[in-house]
Amino acid sequence: MNKITPQPGIMDIALYQGGQSHVAGVEHVIKLSSNENPFGPSPKAIEAVRDSAATLHRYPSTDHASLRAAIGDRHGLDPARIVCGVGSDEVLQFAAQAYAGPGDEVIYTEHGFSMYPIIARMAGATPVMVPERDRHVDVDNILAAVTEQTRIVFVTNPGNPTSTMIPEADLLRLAEALPQTCLMVIDGAYAEFVDGFDGGAALVDRFENVIMTRTFSKIYGLGGMRVGWGYAAQSIIDVLNRVRQPFNLSLTALAAAEAAVKDEDYLTFCHSENARLRVWLSAELAKIGVPSDASCTNFILVRFADRAEAEACDDYLKTQGLIVRRVAGYNLPNALRITVGDQEACGRVVAAITVFKGGAA
Ligand SMILES: *Cc1c(COP(=O)(O)O)cnc(C)c1O
Repeated sequence: MNKITPQPGIMDIALYQGGQSHVAGVEHVIKLSSNENPFGPSPKAIEAVRDSAATLHRYPSTDHASLRAAIGDRHGLDPARIVCGVGSDEVLQFAAQAYAGPGDEVIYTEHGFSMYPIIARMAGATPVMVPERDRHVDVDNILAAVTEQTRIVFVTNPGNPTSTMIPEADLLRLAEALPQTCLMVIDGAYAEFVDGFDGGAALVDRFENVIMTRTFSKIYGLGGMRVGWGYAAQSIIDVLNRVRQPFNLSLTALAAAEAAVKDEDYLTFCHSENARLRVWLSAELAKIGVPSDASCTNFILVRFADRAEAEACDDYLKTQGLIVRRVAGYNLPNALRITVGDQEACGRVVAAITVFKGGAA
């Protein structure tokens, strides 16, 4: 028995399960399990990565000024109130580390991102799960769970794996009703896929205890680079920068993200292709008796009669080289989460599920 023991809570952390990317014995798989951009990163981001190779002997910028300016430009935000992290996961971690500790409670919702309880435990805090209502975040359930010990509330908008939105009025009501001593985190990993949604930026401007997090991993197609950011009151950003390592983002990652955020044409292309194919995919599957909620993201959550049918469908898709995501771990055993791929991928999904349901492909 090793006599050196970890801090309380560490061994309660369940290791994160990533989306599968291989099927034994099947070649040419299409991975639709991690909500990645099927078109890859912007060609300009690829070029920036190549160009960065010549200066890899240099340490990167510690203040990310250039990337923050580019993000501020695109979204109309004050760059001084932006903090960048190794994926938005790191920004979420900064928030937990800075604002929660042993004895504190961190609220997340039933089908919320599985990183929230992990991050809460990493900080020594206690994660508290709140039920949702028909795959939608229920603000009243969150408020009912708030105690004197609550320090952080994590909500995802739009949600993963639900793909549903929290109505604007509900988000505002939550911000208004939470104690000002409690940090409200709006995780906007999929915000770019929603027309006319600011990701929560206006709420950040109104409430000093609200932070919005965003990522380059989804619509920007840079999941492998690990870049995310947060936008909050200056007082919060000043705190988060103290728990951030000075060289957290590599020179290559900074260059890739900056080039990506400046490439508006590519962003528009990815947005419109996703919107078009998402509608087609969910409509075709609904026709063959596989419904999903109207998605606001780059994936759909399809529902089956029961857990057995969902698992059987997943098994069949695997034999066809199609990897989707089981979400029983998110308390959605009857469902599968399918990333909206390119046209070919969506066509193959519909054809395969048609065969699975007993129809002609
Ligand atoms: C993908 C995702 C993120 C992004 O994580 P990164 O660390 O930025 O790659 C954050 N939150 C949710 C809900 C996600 O689905």
